[in-house]
Amino acid sequence: MELRLYDTLSREKRTFVPLDANNVRMYVCGPTVYDFAHIGNARPVIVFDVLFRLLRHLYGEAHVKYVRNITDVDDKINDRAARDFPGLPLNEAIRKVTEQTGKQFHADVDALGALRPSVEPRATEHIAEMREIIEKLIAGGFAYAAEDHVLFSPQAMNAANSVLPHYGALSNRSLDEMIAGARVDVAPYKKDNTDFVLWKPSKPGEPSWPSPAGIAAQGRPGWHIECSAMAWKHLGEHFDIHGGGIDLVFPHHENEVAQSCCAFHQQRMANYWMHNGFLQVESEKMSKSLGNFITIHELLQDWPGEVLRLNMLKTHYRSPIDWTMKSLEESAKTLDDWYRVAADVAPGKPAAPVIEPLLDDLNTPQAIAALHGLRGGDVNALAGSLRLLGFLSESNAQWEGRKQQASGVDAKEVERLIAERTAARSRKDFKESDRIRDLLAAMGVAIKDSKEGTTWEVAR
Ligand SMILES: [Zn+2]
Repeated sequence: MELRLYDTLSREKRTFVPLDANNVRMYVCGPTVYDFAHIGNARPVIVFDVLFRLLRHLYGEAHVKYVRNITDVDDKINDRAARDFPGLPLNEAIRKVTEQTGKQFHADVDALGALRPSVEPRATEHIAEMREIIEKLIAGGFAYAAEDHVLFSPQAMNAANSVLPHYGALSNRSLDEMIAGARVDVAPYKKDNTDFVLWKPSKPGEPSWPSPAGIAAQGRPGWHIECSAMAWKHLGEHFDIHGGGIDLVFPHHENEVAQSCCAFHQQRMANYWMHNGFLQVESEKMSKSLGNFITIHELLQDWPGEVLRLNMLKTHYRSPIDWTMKSLEESAKTLDDWYRVAADVAPGKPAAPVIEPLLDDLNTPQAIAALHGLRGGDVNALAGSLRLLGFLSESNAQWEGRKQQASGVDAKEVERLIAERTAARSRKDFKESDRIRDLLAAMGVAIKDSKEGTTWEVAR
């Protein structure tokens, strides 16, 4: 069975052939650490975690390298640091912001059941590589220094007669149209309006490093060069998969390709470009101004991370997703059921009907349909398949216990009431037995009578 992936660059599903099956390499753009991650940020984390797990299943755990960076130098970080820690020197305040936000991000994505990537490089630890790439670009005639900035010229790239790809190929834009459509009030240090920043001078007090290109003033990198440098350092000049949200295709990924291919004289940076679709909340675009901006942290107060994970995977990663309360409730019910039947059984081999749709460009909705199919049959295969997808991280008792804790239900009190009700039923005091059932219902506890006795669960 072969894996097929949709590649944004060639705009088709292609069979995945790794450059080296012993070292399958994937890079995914990670967060800029300045604030709580929102639920839209969770989508690439979960989607590419499923791909990481699938690749490990196919090629072996030791043969897959997954790099997801942390952007820890950015204007938004500087603004946040100045606002939150006005008494501290800016660099110290920035460290506080990036440390706190980075920790929060890890707590969030761990709760979502996402494996940690093989490497999580930080931009500020790769300044030397960024400078090196910038020097190569200048030497090759693709970049130039002006007024303490270094700029990349897409027009120089497209004029070069070589193996290089065309600027605009990934995002399917024509450079001529970009030139025609660019804003008129272009920065004075740019030769052409489509040139983009590789390096810029730091303002006083901001993080700064010695500049490339013989620039005397200290400076800092542009955003795009960070990913080119970190991908190069950890995955080499040319690797297998580059992923991220669809909003990153232009300009971020287009510029990454330009920088990396021109610096290393490569036709490609990555062989497969994968992008997850947008996320909406209750059919509206999520935004702070609309007041529907939800963080992962907030959702985790009300739902176990695996519920958020399942809810995300019910939609194919390339389709837009509508994040709704109704869908979350359904996902919670499904997981309650899967936990009950599969969390405590020996996991079998992941089932072929689950793997097959995953091999077809990560068709998770179809894989989930196959899981429902296993529910009434091979529960060992169900357990193994769920684990492959990052579910069932705890026992059913732990799962139920957490639900009770979250709902504030006192399990001992519930057991006592159920025993009282059983006694009432055995003496045929149905008025009393109904009274206790209603009391439990008011506490948010649903009970179920069967031949084996009475079981209960916290009704969400
Ligand atoms: Zn990136």
